Amino acid sequence: MKYGITTFQKSLLQWFSEEARDLPWRRSKDPYHIYLSEIILQQTRVAQGLPYFERFLTCFPTIETLAQADEHAVLKAWEGLGYYTRARNMHRTAGIIVEQYQGHFPDSPELLQLLPGIGKYTAGAIASIAFNKPVPVLDGNVKRVLARLDAIQDSIDTSSTEKLLWLRAGALTPSKKPGDFNQAMMELGARICVPKSPICDACPVQKHCEGYAQESQHKLPKRTPKKAVPHHEVVIAAIYKDGKYLIGKRPSEGFLGGLWEFPGGKIKSGENTTDALLRKCREELGITICVGGLVSIVKHAYTHFKVTLNVYRCTLVSGKIKPKFHTELHWVSPEEFEKFVFPKGNHKFLHLL
Ligand code: SF4
Repeated sequence: MKYGITTFQKSLLQWFSEEARDLPWRRSKDPYHIYLSEIILQQTRVAQGLPYFERFLTCFPTIETLAQADEHAVLKAWEGLGYYTRARNMHRTAGIIVEQYQGHFPDSPELLQLLPGIGKYTAGAIASIAFNKPVPVLDGNVKRVLARLDAIQDSIDTSSTEKLLWLRAGALTPSKKPGDFNQAMMELGARICVPKSPICDACPVQKHCEGYAQESQHKLPKRTPKKAVPHHEVVIAAIYKDGKYLIGKRPSEGFLGGLWEFPGGKIKSGENTTDALLRKCREELGITICVGGLVSIVKHAYTHFKVTLNVYRCTLVSGKIKPKFHTELHWVSPEEFEKFVFPKGNHKFLHLL
């Protein structure tokens, strides 16, 4: 970076005070609000996350109400945002804060990082924004901004560069207004120093930017090529009886924990959809089914893999239904689906049942 750190901090803070978006979590220093916004924004864009932030606070206005809530209600308020581990961790964290900290968030980043689902970034955001602690944050936006400001030529995906970026972010964070500064860095990355075409002409710290000076900003940051995302073919048995479908609740720990779904799973190599449906219903429920018509073929992407869901209407032929994988099973009518929390991919075909 060119010129002094203090000038850089001043220019950025000045820009933020004039240009910051008016977002609901910026109107409060309540650590619960800051925490909720940071967790929502981990995998979600601001525009998409806004209504969830408002809805979640209407359902659970305080950390105490969240701690006392039933897990189902928490997942229901989160439904549609995906990555449900975030909601389950928030619920657990609320319980710990109420029990161990008398309902008050700890203000130290070290203690915050001991709470479920709070990593170095979230701890830094809460400590600096809610408690004015001079600790840095480093998310994707800040990494990109720093890589361009310092014209870093190494991949930002390696742990050694990440370490360096944390140190750099720490050195830049001022002791006065660290929360505003951190938000300004993120805001700069979200609105000006954007991934494809940074708007350098509108940048408040352009004169500090090595990447701009070298005209290499468009080639930065350098990234390590990603491995191809695996793809799984999945069968789903919509088992139908007397106007109702059989759904099961997944175990609370693990992938999509605590969510409701239809029986089914991955197709093995060399298996056809009918064989896979028969096998999964035998393994998960101990029953034999008759496979009927195809309801839908749906594609869905998770962070680390993609799936194609092949949904078939099925009927029970023989056997007594026993939950061998799910913690609960229910027969429910399509009108009752909305009472249950389904994974996002399921919402693409529920209306067809
Ligand atoms: S001058 Fe351009 S590349 Fe440098 S920080 Fe500003 S927007 Fe990013």
